[in-house]
Amino acid sequence: MMIHNSLSKLYLLLIIFGLLSIEACKKDEEVDPYQENYIGPGSNAEEYLRDDVYTSMVIDIVYEPGVQPDQRAIDELESFLNTYLNKPKGITIIQREIEAQNQNTLKTKEIVEIEQIYRSHLNSKDTLATFIYFANSEFSQSSNTLGLAYASTSIVIFQKTIQENAAGNVEVIRRLEESILKHEFGHLLGLVDVGSPPVNPHEDSGYPNHCDSKDCLMYYAAETAATANNISLVLDDNCKADLKANGGK
Ligand SMILES: [Zn+2]
Ligand SMILES: [Zn+2]
Repeated sequence: MMIHNSLSKLYLLLIIFGLLSIEACKKDEEVDPYQENYIGPGSNAEEYLRDDVYTSMVIDIVYEPGVQPDQRAIDELESFLNTYLNKPKGITIIQREIEAQNQNTLKTKEIVEIEQIYRSHLNSKDTLATFIYFANSEFSQSSNTLGLAYASTSIVIFQKTIQENAAGNVEVIRRLEESILKHEFGHLLGLVDVGSPPVNPHEDSGYPNHCDSKDCLMYYAAETAATANNISLVLDDNCKADLKANGGK
């Protein structure tokens, strides 16, 4: 799911303002690095795909007790990113458990507040930073949503929803984790037409920012509990072409 309406712009302004205020207490002479990490999903697509600014990447993964991601899903995400991103100095993934948040549902604003507490890397020098939060909660706007790319370098995975949908089946959980992780990252990479312009028209007319192919990872159904089980784990040729045209591999 993508957040790109006027409400999200309001959140964005609140976030930037809030973070600027925090940062201002510490030092006020430098350019604020938070600003770059808090623009809309897909806005950093070129920075992800190319290596002219960032030659390496660090991914902070935090998870609440009971919702630790399957290592195989993380490995698949890493392989996916190495396939399409030009990061010659490598991609580092750091995982750690955080305190239970004890929330049945989370609003986007609350997710951002949790990120502000636990995110440990922002973009710096030649390293692009990404934050992924595995929540033991459902999304407040839809109990069916498995994940959300809510800012240019930020993803939340609603692991509680994944676990409930999979009825405790470990293999189903792993597959859903892999598909939603890669799908949400696909939005950060600018798919579809949210930072990486389509080479050929393939945006789903009924579902903005999603691919029209049922055989593609970026098909809208990847994001919804009821329909995600059979989603493709790979990009189709149209999405691959978009990434390549925008500087990816
Ligand atoms: Zn999506
Ligand atoms: Zn596609």
